[in-house]
Amino acid sequence: MARQLLDLIIEGGWIVDGSGAPRRRADLGVAGARIAAIGDLASSPAARRVDASGKIVAPGFIDVHGHDDLMFVEKPGLEWKTSQGITTVVVGNCGVSGAPAPLPGNTAAALALLGETPLFADMAAYFEALESQRPMINVAALVGHANLRLAAMRDPAAQPTQAEQRAMERMLEAALDAGAVGFSTGLAYEPGGSARPPELAGLARVAAARGALHTSHIRNEGDAVEAAVDEVLAVGRETGCATVLSHHKCMMPRNWGKSAVTLASIDRARAGGVRVALDIYPYPGSSTILIPERAELIDIRITWSTPHPECAGRNLEDIAREWGCGKTEAARRLCPAGAIYFAMDENEVRRIFQHECCMVGSDGLPNDAHPHPRLWGSFTRVLGRYVREAQLMSLEAAVARMTALPASVFGLQGRGRLEEGAWADVAVFDADTVQDRATWESPTLPSVGVELVLVNGSPVFSAGPGRVRPGRVRPGRVLRRAAA
Ligand SMILES: [Zn+2]
Repeated sequence: MARQLLDLIIEGGWIVDGSGAPRRRADLGVAGARIAAIGDLASSPAARRVDASGKIVAPGFIDVHGHDDLMFVEKPGLEWKTSQGITTVVVGNCGVSGAPAPLPGNTAAALALLGETPLFADMAAYFEALESQRPMINVAALVGHANLRLAAMRDPAAQPTQAEQRAMERMLEAALDAGAVGFSTGLAYEPGGSARPPELAGLARVAAARGALHTSHIRNEGDAVEAAVDEVLAVGRETGCATVLSHHKCMMPRNWGKSAVTLASIDRARAGGVRVALDIYPYPGSSTILIPERAELIDIRITWSTPHPECAGRNLEDIAREWGCGKTEAARRLCPAGAIYFAMDENEVRRIFQHECCMVGSDGLPNDAHPHPRLWGSFTRVLGRYVREAQLMSLEAAVARMTALPASVFGLQGRGRLEEGAWADVAVFDADTVQDRATWESPTLPSVGVELVLVNGSPVFSAGPGRVRPGRVRPGRVLRRAAA
């Protein structure tokens, strides 16, 4: 095998290469930022060797649904990612992204999901800022449709004039030319919810012409979920734009089971040539901004509140009782705020996860005071609870959904697989112990069982003493869309 001096050899582990193929015993050699060799490297010279006997050596995980856009600036350590084996995140989801910045006077409640840092003028400036700060992990970005509306439209609640539609399309072109991998819509939020099909199709055509994709937080994830899925599939069908349905779920008990219908629609679209994928986070509760209209319908836990920060982590019902008012009134007083909504059936999430084009996206909200535990535990929870305990699928198949499948869907070249010449994004973990620990009550507890994580050949996380320690230089890169 390789005779060159390797920087690192991870010895004696089980290689799960991301393709879904069965694990095999082999050493993995890293030179610089790349995988130099996989095989018997016992006699290969190396600067460092790490024993991974009995452990799984997999490609680093790709979190397809992040809201960490501004965290690369605000909290660049990104421990909630590295501690669960994530080496790449796709940001800019649900219609909101770090760029472009709104016109003066324009804003949207959903922008609060991102953080405090002012938005960047355009994607080129955003990428430049990330590169000068050095990201901890790799980042690919979508441009938010809400940002486009807020940056191009004088009245973002209206329908775009022809000139405004053209302005949004030009901004999207510029973002894609700067390296964004696509755009995202948040049709359940304003101002995205005001968009009608021609507007979305116009943008999707721009993306399709450049080989980019679009992701969607669909218009309705409850009573009207079937129509909302069909709406987004139609955009893909009419424009040829590859489509990802974000955090797919059916909310409220009366809608549980509807994924049988929505997944069948997805299958029909795929059979008809539409490129569709989807993602889930592995929990029975969702999280976003606090919406007072939901207060009487769903059990709610507050994740942050600007006027009442002391209420983060508390149940809305308890707050309302203490304040001697109704839950809707309490919710109004708490806004602007964030919430967890307990209205999903985790068994249904597990069924959705087993769909062949389903990936994992944490949808983590790192800016929240008391966040949904998906931020710290999504990937380890899939490996511990869905694979080891419930045996929904083989470890190899689950790893493929976290690595090679998203790399292919988002066009991330040289990522998502362990093979010679690929970027050395690697997660080493113990299949017998890997587990999330973050809970609704203690949502920021790091996972266990992940031992070593490399991003572009450099360690960013290490569990045990005496292992390779993370360096001081953050090794992540901006992953720009490859030219079509
Ligand atoms: Zn969303």
